[in-house]
Amino acid sequence: MAPIREIINPSTEEVIAEVPSLGIAETDVAIGKAVRGLEHWRKLAPAERARLLRAFGAKVYEHNEELAQLEVKNSGHTISNSRWEANNVGDVITYYAGSVERLMGRQIPVPGGVDITFKEPIGVVGVIVPWNFPMPIASWGFAPALAAGCSVILKPAEITPLTAMRIAELAHEAGIPEEVFQVVTGSGRVVGERLVTDPRVRKIVFTGSTEVGIHIQKLAADHLKAVTLELGGKSANVVFADADLDKAAATAPYSVFDNAGQDCCARSRLLVQESAYDGFMSRFEAAVKGVKVEDPRLDSSEMGPLISAGHRETVQSFVDEDLVLFRGSCPTGSGYWYPPTVIEVKDPAHRSIREEIFGPVVAVQTFRDEEEAIAMANDSDYGLSGSIWTSNLGRGLRVARGIETGALSVNSHSSVRYWTPFGGYKKSGIGRELGPDATDAFCETKNVFINTEI
Ligand code: NAP
Ligand code: MG
Repeated sequence: MAPIREIINPSTEEVIAEVPSLGIAETDVAIGKAVRGLEHWRKLAPAERARLLRAFGAKVYEHNEELAQLEVKNSGHTISNSRWEANNVGDVITYYAGSVERLMGRQIPVPGGVDITFKEPIGVVGVIVPWNFPMPIASWGFAPALAAGCSVILKPAEITPLTAMRIAELAHEAGIPEEVFQVVTGSGRVVGERLVTDPRVRKIVFTGSTEVGIHIQKLAADHLKAVTLELGGKSANVVFADADLDKAAATAPYSVFDNAGQDCCARSRLLVQESAYDGFMSRFEAAVKGVKVEDPRLDSSEMGPLISAGHRETVQSFVDEDLVLFRGSCPTGSGYWYPPTVIEVKDPAHRSIREEIFGPVVAVQTFRDEEEAIAMANDSDYGLSGSIWTSNLGRGLRVARGIETGALSVNSHSSVRYWTPFGGYKKSGIGRELGPDATDAFCETKNVFINTEI
């Protein structure tokens, strides 16, 4: 029997489930099954694969409320965010179901014959996901992989496995064979690492910290295994004086405090043009103090607790109390609460500017002009997302083109739309998820030449 891991509700600190922590032997069994699943799944007629994926998507929509409630309990996400997350899974599965029948090769004119390319599934895919968005991030990997004809082994984070386990059950209820889509629970160092090092797994989609991502890429290199890495971020929210300051300030808290700041796209550096500093900051302070940090089960809740006591200590370690400008409020008592916190940092070498905090903390800096804004935004090892607020669209586009990050928005705080590609520059990752081309990342291209002159 595998050892058991207790799953904790971060809002109450209560044990809500016990989940097996699988070992190497069980992971090997899962990989063997996935190899068999692949043989079946890749040969299905595309229309049938698409039909099963649509049925899976429909199941997820049908169980939206159940999945959302489960995420509130396991991850402390607010109920409104959790409903969005579960819905995103349904959308992503349905969207990639639509790509199955459009996955096609080409006929290329060549002398002496006919040349055809085929898109073939890359093989068994391991999807390793972090604890911060257990549902959507899993689906961004498994949905296009399944659409391409790959079998999938999903490894959720050890502390947040519950929604992934339920989603796999829904897949099976929809008719997707168990061997085609499996969830393996257990630690990253054991189960995750086995997926990365077993040559039968042909591709790894990893979302998590930059440190573990680098380790995975090194391990995968020994097998020349394909990897997609979605890693950390330290994104900038750049506010120009010509922006609609009311809108920029009203939405700025959600760009960093959403999901209690445990968001790789969090705009944890707020860059404000000097001439707008007073006008923006007074509005921003009111907005931060208005964020409702409360029991995530409530419809009114806008921010829940952090994921664990250990993570709260890490977040606190970044906050130099002398630098705090103002804070919002949060509950006291049980639960890993931390208030929305705004710090002002003049030293660009300060740890809170350079490293990912992954909590509800934003560091404010000022800039003089467009050129300095771009230079400051780029002064980071990371390059994942970011926002630019300006009423001058020419400037918005110039600055967007100047910032080295993968997903930018102008006059908006959204980073992720499943129709569009998502991923990082620099230490934020390799490869792209989502968007119209994601299925391609799970295919090999085979070229066949037929000599017509014999
Ligand atoms: P993490 O520690 O890197 O873990 C991520 C996943 O990898 C977990 O499932 C973990 O398992 C597993 N893992 C750990 N060590 C492993 C190893 N040696 N081999 C294989 N798998 C291993 O990250 P986290 O703390 O869960 O999540 C926070 C990080 O994720 C942040 O840095 C954040 O920016 C990043 N993130 C990035 C994106 C993006 O799209 N770019 C999105 C969300 C989050 P265990 O749970 O068992 O440790
Ligand atoms: Mg970790």
